[in-house]
Amino acid sequence: MKARVYLDWNATAPLRDEARAAMIAAMDVVGNPSSVHAEGRAARALVERARAQVAAAVGCKPAEVVFTSGATEAAAVLGRLSVDAVEVDPTAHDCLWAQRREGEGRRALGWGYANNETGVIAEPPAREAGVPLMLDIVQAVGKVPFSFAWSGAEMAVVSAHKFGGPKGVGALIVRDGFEIAPALTGGGQEMGRRAGTENIIGIAGMGAAAEAAQRDLDAGVWERVAELRNILETALSLGANNTISVGNGAARLPNTLCLIAPGWKGETQVMAMDLAGFAVSAGSACSSGKVKASRVLRAMGFDEAQAAQAIRISLGPGVTKDDVLRFADIWCAQYAKALSRAA
Ligand code: PLP
Repeated sequence: MKARVYLDWNATAPLRDEARAAMIAAMDVVGNPSSVHAEGRAARALVERARAQVAAAVGCKPAEVVFTSGATEAAAVLGRLSVDAVEVDPTAHDCLWAQRREGEGRRALGWGYANNETGVIAEPPAREAGVPLMLDIVQAVGKVPFSFAWSGAEMAVVSAHKFGGPKGVGALIVRDGFEIAPALTGGGQEMGRRAGTENIIGIAGMGAAAEAAQRDLDAGVWERVAELRNILETALSLGANNTISVGNGAARLPNTLCLIAPGWKGETQVMAMDLAGFAVSAGSACSSGKVKASRVLRAMGFDEAQAAQAIRISLGPGVTKDDVLRFADIWCAQYAKALSRAA
């Protein structure tokens, strides 16, 4: 039997060896990073090393990195700003979208920098002075060059598991001197910006993954991934010429292909490909057992039916040319079958 092929790197990336090794080592660090004794200082050193590694990957100062349980927790800070309205770009991830607030007066803006469903990279619009901006750079980190310092944003959110770190750890990046109301209060950890004893195992894993991800990006690893994505895109459009490749022509993440297959539901595609040994995602969200068409695709102007017929195929450096060509063959054959059943 053929090994399974994982093509869902935007949902979560496989754990990097460097992250695994750093986490195993961190498990034996006894101290609390807030303790002043030698054991505490050892734990503190581990957290500060990871902070510098994350800062280097994101292009910010180490002191601007606040470790959290993930991007979702970091995004909660947007909703806690002392402004009257929080506007969010309609294609942003739910964790930003959930922070929207209507009102007259002072505004803040939440912006999805690289879309998880389509891979489209969108620069935020020009802002009036005094409108704070939070960027969601979760999908960009490690895949495309990005610098928080150059972005002009006040805040950004990051999640370790998207670049080969562990799940359940991430960071809020906050520009030096920008005041936030922390989502978690209590102890004074993270310079009063996120209370609670640090998850040193997760943080060590995140730091090691960030450093390895930056190294891979600098070495051009994702250029090869983009070539494979383009080979896949061409093979699918040749095999089924009525498909729509969303975001083709726009600036896109190197690894992402969002494909609409008219007449074939996204979740049915996911199930068919899962049975054939491939892991991909539907461009739709499932809540309380009801599958909803993708809000992102609706916001991009696709109709309800099209938005429910999308899948996201997201590649990573572990994927081979044989994997994508086999995917294309099987997907095209399954699509033809689905269409003939419907006829
Ligand atoms: N933002 C984007 C673009 C994402 O893809 C995700 C994860 O799916 C998140 C935010 C949320 O990350 P986490 O669930 O790790 O908090």
